Amino acid sequence: MTGSKYLVQAAGKKLLVDCGLFQGTDDLKERNWNPLPVDLNTISYAILTHAHLDHSGWLPVLVRDGFRKPIFANPATIELAELLLKDSGHLQEEETQDAIKHKWSKHPHPRALYTSDDVDPVLRLLKPMPRNGGFDISPEFHVESYDAGHILGSSSLELTITENGKRTVIVFSGDVGRYDQPILNDPVTPVKKQIDLLLCESTYGDREHEAGDPLELLSNVVNRVVKRGGSIVIPAFAIGRTQTFMYYLRQLENLQRIPKVPVYVDSPMALSATDLYLKHKEDHDLLFARDEQNGGDPLSVHEFHLTRSAEESKQINNVKTPCIIISASGMVTGGRVLHHLAQRLGDARNAVILGGFQAEGTRGRALQEGAKTLSLFGQVVPVLAEIVEMGQFSAHAGKSELLRWLTALQAPPKQVYLTHGEPSAAQALQQAITEKFRWKASVARYLDTVEVG
Ligand SMILES: [Zn+2]
Repeated sequence: MTGSKYLVQAAGKKLLVDCGLFQGTDDLKERNWNPLPVDLNTISYAILTHAHLDHSGWLPVLVRDGFRKPIFANPATIELAELLLKDSGHLQEEETQDAIKHKWSKHPHPRALYTSDDVDPVLRLLKPMPRNGGFDISPEFHVESYDAGHILGSSSLELTITENGKRTVIVFSGDVGRYDQPILNDPVTPVKKQIDLLLCESTYGDREHEAGDPLELLSNVVNRVVKRGGSIVIPAFAIGRTQTFMYYLRQLENLQRIPKVPVYVDSPMALSATDLYLKHKEDHDLLFARDEQNGGDPLSVHEFHLTRSAEESKQINNVKTPCIIISASGMVTGGRVLHHLAQRLGDARNAVILGGFQAEGTRGRALQEGAKTLSLFGQVVPVLAEIVEMGQFSAHAGKSELLRWLTALQAPPKQVYLTHGEPSAAQALQQAITEKFRWKASVARYLDTVEVG
């Protein structure tokens, strides 16, 4: 789970696919401090499936350590990566300063993995590739890109390697999104008839998302909480889920199914991210394109407040009437959502909506599993607010959606490795694939090496 990095070695060249940060438990995060198991000067190119930090967030370390080769990504991914990496650098600086000030770290001299200054050199290496279709990285490596429907710019990559006249095809699923969701297109399965190796994500390999109409569920929560005079905190990354929530809240307002309560999007980068969502029309599904053509502003509610400065953010604490606060981080690992939760978790009138994957070891997972208290800023805060899980807002395919994506492959892959999931999720998907398709599938382990072709 998290920290996605794949190194393809062929025809005397090395291609790095994704360069993600490990997130979640301390053991996982510790891996971010390990050097790569290969000499990074021998890597010829890098390419990204999408901008999420668990796929791109280690690039500043790679480049600081000396990597100077092109990093290919489509235009939306490049713009989102710029936002996310800068934010990641800032957050790490802030957390390190806090850890020093309050002596929270178990390390005697805490330091940031990287800072925002380490990000600019990465941005200079990012090179655009087409959103869809084919692209030659080099004579050895040809890539076809397919919309993965997970976040803006997200792709599955089909890599054809030519070595001594022989062709080998490797498919990287990247993170696979959902079918029939607002804003983005449905995931598209790669179409090659020969697949020598498939690397498939398995985040929700053991689970289905809750059934039920997201509009119905969201309106129920909003109405229930507003009636009892409470407020709602939605931990959400500025990219993806924030836009999905804004879209649904806007729809509910238009349908007059919820009252017009103020919505605070407390994230300096949410507005930039929303602009990118509106700008990259190549990713919009038909319904969203129609909403836009009708002259509406489908990603903005009526009473919308955007807070940029930390001071404005703290002023939200003074809002005692019903409101909705959307703030990062999505797994409650850091960011401004921490002080909103510190303010509002102890009041039973309030609610917290968990709309996405909560990795093991995060505060989000603790809330999901019914924790009675939460540790915030070195204090123990009682959890009295209602905790609502809404898997409908996940950006990841559930188990049957992953199987649907796999069903659309044109021929059985010769080898399948399941990646990017906690062990139980990967194993459950392995079993489902064996039962449904009779393919040989394995669960990838950290630092595994596989021969292909
Ligand atoms: Zn992702």
